[in-house]
Amino acid sequence: MPTTYLTELRRLPEAKSLRLVFDDGYTAELAYDTLRGYCPCAGCQGHWTEAIRYQPPPRPVEPATLAPVGNYGVSIHWSDGHATGIYRFDFLRRLAEEVSAHDEPPERIRTEEIPR
Ligand SMILES: [Zn+2]
Repeated sequence: MPTTYLTELRRLPEAKSLRLVFDDGYTAELAYDTLRGYCPCAGCQGHWTEAIRYQPPPRPVEPATLAPVGNYGVSIHWSDGHATGIYRFDFLRRLAEEVSAHDEPPERIRTEEIPR
């Protein structure tokens, strides 16, 4: 069971970012391109990976639609047509903390504790 829940997900069109608010009050803003670059789907990452690689999109993207997946994640349909990534809340939390701790997006986000 996920221990982290996302309570708010909001587009910030001028910042080209999504604002994420978690149930413990932790708040972060992640750029659209950053989120797209860490798409966790098997097509982007391959199977059985213990880390999510950062693969920045060649052109800027925007989230066309955001849809909840169960009570554990959100599906993002990107403007480049890619829609298979399910961003689990616990992954989003890890991503937000890792990205905010670095000047540049880390090359990899370890995910060994996160079932995918
Ligand atoms: Zn993907």
